[in-house]
Amino acid sequence: MLNTKKVDIIVPCYNEEDVLELFHSATQKVLGTIDGYDFRYIFVDDGSKDQTLGIMKTLASKYDNVKYLSFSRNFGKESAMYAGLKFSSGDLVVIIDADLQHPPAMIPAMLIELENGYDSCAARRISRTGESQVRSAFSSLFYKLNNKLSDVELVSGAVDFRIMTRQVVDAVLDLCEVQRFSKGIFSWIGFETKWMPYENIERSIGVTKWSFKSLVRYAIHGITAFSTAPLRLVMGMGFVISMFAFVYIIITLVKTLVTGIDVPGYVTTLSAVLFLGGIIVISIGILGEYIGHIFMESKKRPIYILKQTNLNSQNNRGTGNEQTERKDIQ
Ligand code: UDP
Ligand code: MG
Repeated sequence: MLNTKKVDIIVPCYNEEDVLELFHSATQKVLGTIDGYDFRYIFVDDGSKDQTLGIMKTLASKYDNVKYLSFSRNFGKESAMYAGLKFSSGDLVVIIDADLQHPPAMIPAMLIELENGYDSCAARRISRTGESQVRSAFSSLFYKLNNKLSDVELVSGAVDFRIMTRQVVDAVLDLCEVQRFSKGIFSWIGFETKWMPYENIERSIGVTKWSFKSLVRYAIHGITAFSTAPLRLVMGMGFVISMFAFVYIIITLVKTLVTGIDVPGYVTTLSAVLFLGGIIVISIGILGEYIGHIFMESKKRPIYILKQTNLNSQNNRGTGNEQTERKDIQ
């Protein structure tokens, strides 16, 4: 076919043996209805400890359009998505979760949006069924806080299910930070994005890889990766406290000069020491967060280390099916 567009479907997978085949057959069913596109899967095995890679290999032996990348260990979903993008060569690229929480049935409608001229089309959850109320409350607090503090605006409910043009993929790959925060990156690069709402689907097979602790860490990283507002906040806090302290010193001085030395002051002293101590430790924590980023980025470590793949790419030095190949980010 002449004008057939190539579409790469990137699927980050970590311990998804229970759902992977189901995901493939469900997606195949949807893609089978679409004409004019040449689809290819790039499954990324993010150091799974179960049979995920074995299933990928079986699928690859059955279907020519199934490719896989396998990491030397678990590097996290951000690394898996980056590797998939790096190895993609399609005119259009889809990123989708393996657990069927991102409905493959949305892909045809998303493709139409790109045909209509959008650079990217992304899914947005409009409900949070199955999620605990505490988690939802923290999540909405995060979005509010982020959009106040950060330079990049995040859309509430946005998930990592999107389709984009090659131009967008190349822009994402140009941001080569090691500690990646894709939601921020997609917003930062700009381009026209169409948001497609969908009802949240509970994970029916397998378990979520996110603990509450990892979500909090992700949220802090999200804010500090794209904004220095917390640092300015620390400085502002310092100015305000200094001003109050200055006024308080003057008042105390005048009082002492007029009425003599006032010995009791235990509560005031203790309160001031504890309050300032707290503020100082918080400030050091905020500074530490940024120093941590600098430290990690300055090492320039690879975002992932590839162990096996059946993919030939412009990024590959070898001829495919390599064992123990290192991929550097630059
Ligand atoms: N995932 C991954 N590496 C990880 C954790 C998750 O590649 O370290 C994949 C996982 O297999 C799934 C997707 O990322 O395809 C989303 O993960 P999960 O369903 O656990 O997240 P949630 O849907 O709860 O946000
Ligand atoms: Mg999920």
